[in-house]
Parts: sequence; C-alpha cells; structure tokens
Amino acid sequence: MSNNKYKILVIEDEANIRNFMETVLESNNYQMICAGSCAMGKTMFLSHTPDLVILDLGLPDEDGLVFLEFVRRDSPVPVIVLSARTDEQDKVTALDMGANDYITKPFGTAELLARVRAALRNCRLSTQTDTLGHLFTLIWQSITISVVSPCPAKTSA
Ligand code: CA
Repeated sequence: MSNNKYKILVIEDEANIRNFMETVLESNNYQMICAGSCAMGKTMFLSHTPDLVILDLGLPDEDGLVFLEFVRRDSPVPVIVLSARTDEQDKVTALDMGANDYITKPFGTAELLARVRAALRNCRLSTQTDTLGHLFTLIWQSITISVVSPCPAKTSA
C-alpha cells in the first residue's frame, strides 16, 4: 500500500455527504479519515496528523469553529470549511479564525477536488525554502508566539 498519499480528515456528521466525499477522494488517490463529531475530529486529528482537514460547521456536539480554534492553537494544517449555511458571516468568521477556504453545500465533485488541490498546493508552497516559504513561516511563528505566550517575560528568581 502506498504511503505517500495525502491524508484528508473529513469531519462531517451527515453520512451521505461523508460517503460522497469518500468515494470522490479515494478514487482520486487521497486517503480519507472520517469523524462524525467535533470530539472525534480532535481525536482523529491528533492520532493521524492529516495533510488537510475538511470541516463541517454544523456538528452535533459542538460548532465546527471549536475544532478550528483547537487546531489553530498549534497547527498550520490547511482547513476547508464545509457549510450548508448561507449566512456570509459564518464564512467570514471561519476565515478570520484561520480557515483557508470554504465550500458551500451542495457542491459537486469538480469543485471539491479543485479546492482540495488548491489548499494542498498553497500548503506545499509555504513549506518550500523559497522567499515565500520563509515569509509564511515567519508570519506563522510570530502568530504562534503571540497566541501561545501572551504573558510578559518569566521572572525566575
Ligand atoms: Ca452537519
């Protein structure tokens, strides 16, 4: 079995959409990991370290934004938000919280694959050692630092 397939974590509670994505992604040589809730999504994310996350915002246990916040504490993994909601504000909030892209339901095979390719391509660019990559890493690290250590310098006596 080939081990260099991209791993995509899909967090979606609707089985028919999960099945649709599984069929599409696996027939296009991606490895798909599924979760049906926010809690399961966190577990699967930590144990599988996926290359990309497709995240439904309307999950049964918690809002998908809770997962997004959890992931963005220490991971730059690309996240595509999936939502049936037509409310523009949900998409704006998700993008502001660190989502890379969004797909509005219902969506077709071609759009799903194009968004996945784009997200993985942008991510790959950011890890290359060109100017763009360094710039991205620098920005990302400064965000991480400002989030992880908001307190002033330690005073170890
Ligand atoms: Ca849902």
